[in-house]
Amino acid sequence: MVKWVYGFGDGRAEGSRAMGDLLGGKGSNLAEMASLGLPVPPGFTITTEVCAYYYAHEGAFPEGLKEAVGEALGHVGALTGRGFGDEERPLLVSVRSGAPASMPGMMDTVLNLGLNDVSVDALARRAGDARFAYDSYRRFIQMYSNVALGVGHYDFEDALESYKETKGLSLDTELDEADWRKIVAIFKEKVEACAGAPFPQDPREQLWGAIGAVFGSWNNPRAIAYRRIHQIPESWGTAVNVQAMVFGNMGTTSATGVAFTRNPSTGEKALFGEFLVNAQGEDVVAGLRTPQSVTEAERLASGSDRPSMETAMPEVFKTFVGVADMLERHYRDMQDVEFTVENGKLWMLQTRSGKRTTAAALRIAVELTQEGVIGREEAVLRIDPASLDQLLHPAINPNAPRPVVAIGLPASPGAATGEVVFTAEAAEQLRSIGRKSILVRVETSPDDIHGMHAAEGILTARGGMTSHAAVVARGMGKPCVCGAAALRIDYAEGLFSVGDETFRKGDVITIDGGAGQVIKGEVRMSRPELTGEFAILMKWADESRRMEVRANAETPQDARVARKFGAEGVGLCRTEHMFYDLQRINAMREMILAENVKGRRAALGKLLPMQREDFIELFGIMAGLPVTIRLLDPPLHEFLPQTTQEVAEVAKALGVPSEKIARRVAELREVNPMLGFRGVRLAVAYPEIARMQARAVFEAAVEVKNRAGMLVQPEIMIPLVIARPEFDAVRRLIDEAAAAVAAETGQSVPYTVGAMVETPRAALRAGEIAQSAEFLSFGTNDLTQTCLALSRDDAGSFLGRYVTAGLLPGDPFVTIDVEGVGELVALAAERGRAARADVKLGMCGEHGGDPQSIAFCETLKLDYVSCSPFRVPIARLAAAQAAIRAKARELNPVSTPVDR
Ligand code: PEP
Ligand code: MG
Repeated sequence: MVKWVYGFGDGRAEGSRAMGDLLGGKGSNLAEMASLGLPVPPGFTITTEVCAYYYAHEGAFPEGLKEAVGEALGHVGALTGRGFGDEERPLLVSVRSGAPASMPGMMDTVLNLGLNDVSVDALARRAGDARFAYDSYRRFIQMYSNVALGVGHYDFEDALESYKETKGLSLDTELDEADWRKIVAIFKEKVEACAGAPFPQDPREQLWGAIGAVFGSWNNPRAIAYRRIHQIPESWGTAVNVQAMVFGNMGTTSATGVAFTRNPSTGEKALFGEFLVNAQGEDVVAGLRTPQSVTEAERLASGSDRPSMETAMPEVFKTFVGVADMLERHYRDMQDVEFTVENGKLWMLQTRSGKRTTAAALRIAVELTQEGVIGREEAVLRIDPASLDQLLHPAINPNAPRPVVAIGLPASPGAATGEVVFTAEAAEQLRSIGRKSILVRVETSPDDIHGMHAAEGILTARGGMTSHAAVVARGMGKPCVCGAAALRIDYAEGLFSVGDETFRKGDVITIDGGAGQVIKGEVRMSRPELTGEFAILMKWADESRRMEVRANAETPQDARVARKFGAEGVGLCRTEHMFYDLQRINAMREMILAENVKGRRAALGKLLPMQREDFIELFGIMAGLPVTIRLLDPPLHEFLPQTTQEVAEVAKALGVPSEKIARRVAELREVNPMLGFRGVRLAVAYPEIARMQARAVFEAAVEVKNRAGMLVQPEIMIPLVIARPEFDAVRRLIDEAAAAVAAETGQSVPYTVGAMVETPRAALRAGEIAQSAEFLSFGTNDLTQTCLALSRDDAGSFLGRYVTAGLLPGDPFVTIDVEGVGELVALAAERGRAARADVKLGMCGEHGGDPQSIAFCETLKLDYVSCSPFRVPIARLAAAQAAIRAKARELNPVSTPVDR
């Protein structure tokens, strides 16, 4: 016989906190509190298995449930000295949802159930207050009819408002007992008119109606949307908690409140809460009355002159402090509790781990460890790696109003305010006079890099999470919203419009790159400090971490940030980014425009010293840590001007005819540039470019050794490889450059050469490639693009639909597609290792900074991940968590911890 119902109360419970899957979060914690002997109103939980049954059988309940509920109700009645349906001493109950994962406010609740035309008078006698009893009854009719009979809330609100109007009253508090009696009658008529039957008077009918409604609310649109956003499986279902009502609105010795056992904003170890005298829980939430502080310290801090619970109800407060302490010690975490005081007696209605800011989470985890409550590894596991973003970028003050005008993709976190500009030049010009800008583009290209540097933030109308704008902005640590499709940008007019709002050049906007929001005007910001706890926790994380964490960095500024955040080297230096500088791009253009090898060599001769200086600086900053330098990757046309005006300007600067540039642009134009003349193919066609870059690397390494005595071991990486012969051909150029520099300087530099695995073919042939390559680095941006045949720059227009329709679990450019791309990575790792046991394996696509993808890398035992500098702390923490979990799985392969 399946057990469908679990009772609790009076110091005992049939369930426990370990039964969250079956009893839901609320039910399992109520059971736990009851077992601890805490004052919990007695009740019972109907399991999530009943929910599953209900959905599998068109809303029917399993056999035996009615009897089990009847028995449980009898038990609650015995504990409270009341009877369900008893006319003299009626047992009133609340019926609440409670899923295995917290879904606040998404499902239905019914309070005061059991009230009818008779028991309402019994309640009036118990409370000594008929006004209260009739107010409770009308609330019940409204709540019940809404959730169980489908009568709209507004029907009741309308009726109440017109009643008040005819009586010339404006506030609910002005209504007396007679008014509420009349309103009850009006509400009952309303129900009969709308639902076609009188309001049910039989408490059992009410109860089954409410239970069915709560199970039904698992599938209301709100709950479905919430589950989708928070990735809560459909199959979990909700439990239903039926509990004896306690009333916080029975006069001045009654109250209701919520509290956190530590401060959820700062993490300070101090009780933090609010309560309302003579009120029900919903009054606190409704915000109609201003709650009072729980502790005296909080009251003083807030400057309130209304008494705290500590002074207004000293005895209850003392009990409450004891309960809060006990709960925190028992759960070994900060708790968020709900309580009610009925006639001077404290009742606990809920406990759960409290939500907190990242700063608070860090402080709480560190202090709980220092207090001996949890261990270091547990502290490390308690922090959501992605949440560290909050500490690494300026953020919009949570209390500031934000008039959002458009939504795009949250491409790079942080918030920024500035004047709208539409060109890189305008951003630079504003910066030169000390003004801030937001660069607004349909999409960005390498030509915009200097403007992206100069702007405070970047907003684009097109492009996905790995579009140029997104990748570059993340690398720079700049806030970016991309793919805000509602934006209509008119460069010629110097404006963009969205809906019926128009923003001109110079108008101020704010973007929130963490939320993907475009906001009108300036918004208040705050930059949370990197507190001491942050550093302590990161140190603990590093103690558990197995994988190295490197950064994708090329500019000195990026490299410094990367080191500050604890990067253990550079995993990807995109050398093309070094040429976008205004002074250099012309030398690059000369090289591209050259008509023969001689001309190309001459131009490369100009670029060589620049590259060498770049590497000297980069090696110096990275102080002997590994640095992976990738040979030039993008299609050459990206370096050439596009519009007629730009072509004319460049022609003038270079002293060549415009037609020549235009012709070369046309020659280089490709239908499919992402699959075109880029990556290793450039080195094959123009070996002198690769030679120049390799020479610059080796000369820089010698120079750094001579100048600073620092030993550098460069790792040179060849992009977009598809086969070993191709890799070998380019490797030969690098080896020759190394030998030449050694011969010239008399000093040889230790180095390795590796391949980027960015094509399915490279993954399949990794065994052969690894015979020549000392390392393989998974470029999962391109590998995702090539494996799924999804353009990383354009897929945004339809990818969202795939995700909302459940056709893909998420954006594969954000979190690695484990089943597809992941399998290629696993296969390449296996084949690579089989060919060369010590082949070094890393991941340097955007996924290298994504916690879930990092966990996947740990399962393959990769050697390192590499990500943009601002994600380095996130990657360090995620890698540590993955290692801790992997260790736990090895020790206990059966029960793998599931995070909720
Ligand atoms: C990649 O493709 O994953 C990669 C790191 O290279 P890029 O983003 O520069 O193409
Ligand atoms: Mg790539």
